[in-house]
Amino acid sequence: MQSNSGFMKALKCRECGREYPLAATHVCEFDFGPLEVVYDYDRIKKSMGRATIASRPHTMWRYRELLPVANEPTVGTQVGFTPLVKADRLAKVLGIRELWIKNDTVNYPTLSFKDRVVSVALSRARELGFKTVACASTGNLANSVAANAASAGLKAYVFIPADLEQGKILNSLVYGAQVVAIKGHYDEVNRLCAEIAGKYGWAFVNVNMRPYYAEGSKSMGFEICEQLGWRIPQHTVVPMASGSLLTKIHKSYQEFTKLGLVSDAPYKVHGAQATGCSPISQAQKAGLDFFKPVKPNTIAKSLAIGTPADGFYALKVMKETGAAAEDVTDDEVRDGIKLLAEYEGIFAETAGGVTVGVAKKLIASGRIPASDSAVLCITGNGLKTLDAVNGHVGQPYEIKPSLREFEALLNTSENAATVNA
Ligand SMILES: *Cc1c(COP(=O)(O)O)cnc(C)c1O
Ligand SMILES: [Zn+2]
Repeated sequence: MQSNSGFMKALKCRECGREYPLAATHVCEFDFGPLEVVYDYDRIKKSMGRATIASRPHTMWRYRELLPVANEPTVGTQVGFTPLVKADRLAKVLGIRELWIKNDTVNYPTLSFKDRVVSVALSRARELGFKTVACASTGNLANSVAANAASAGLKAYVFIPADLEQGKILNSLVYGAQVVAIKGHYDEVNRLCAEIAGKYGWAFVNVNMRPYYAEGSKSMGFEICEQLGWRIPQHTVVPMASGSLLTKIHKSYQEFTKLGLVSDAPYKVHGAQATGCSPISQAQKAGLDFFKPVKPNTIAKSLAIGTPADGFYALKVMKETGAAAEDVTDDEVRDGIKLLAEYEGIFAETAGGVTVGVAKKLIASGRIPASDSAVLCITGNGLKTLDAVNGHVGQPYEIKPSLREFEALLNTSENAATVNA
């Protein structure tokens, strides 16, 4: 790879278009618009075709030219290329012709899509000379920063809301990260982190490193296209916290189209939220361009951002692609988790339950037509949010170690479904 900025050209303000050097900075000085990485697509086109990509290792870095690092990545080099599963059994119960699960519950190393954004942010942070990395997190980001920093020998501070699931807290502590639990909502955590980032010389992956970090999400969309045989799915259902993943899936489809890697075809990128924290979906359903901030109250804690940083842009993407947003209650989230587990053998966390629950609603209402094909982005692993399903999935049968007792149990197994419900 050549030059000292790789295939990147600059950072650019999404509002006024002013350009900035490729440093650890994230807002425009003139209008506070978010900065975004711009690339040299002519050079990328010469460097990266279908055959070249296909010959590379099965990680997200096979699309390296479209990811914002100057040199070869040094952190999270094994991340991505998770399975795209054809979900025929789930398709049948949801009533759609063709359904796929993009399964980031098995992403490496921390079992969520956040490993994608973190490998980019930390690789770039190292290029820019940082020794300490940090984040404001709803859980999965903290886990991924902690693990990837540990393997890279970087010092990590992770900031989380104090009421997070135990599984997410332990999954940060175990890697030796400095875990700071804030007594407040994510939005308060985020505000404090913006102050800390301004004061200390740390790479905050989703604050001052956000333009690079967010680009990592595109890899999920690139993989979906390649794994579908180089085509864009008609429908993609994406869970929304800040709304960033949704906007970047859209960007990935646009970039692949621009580079001629897929043919130009219409597609919709639908957004999914939990009703207890649904500022983006409420705005979309009301036909508004702006969301109203909310105070989160939902079991889907990984999506509990009441003031979503990219909410405005997520609404724009849904409008442009003619897509819909929906939200589901906590009970529907649990039902979604169970549907995915019982029909496809995939145990997702609450965000996965949100995505399945919303897809069910969109199909039932015809906003995703039954004759179409859809991809669901399943972004996190159920083993981290056991509390959410505990008490809702039945209990094991308990018997003495005796064949007689077992056979007595079998005899009542006519009722097993009801007993176990
Ligand atoms: C962070 C997260 C998302 C969505 O994040 P955005 O902020 O919208 O990019 C989705 N699912 C899970 C499991 C997450 O941890
Ligand atoms: Zn600007």
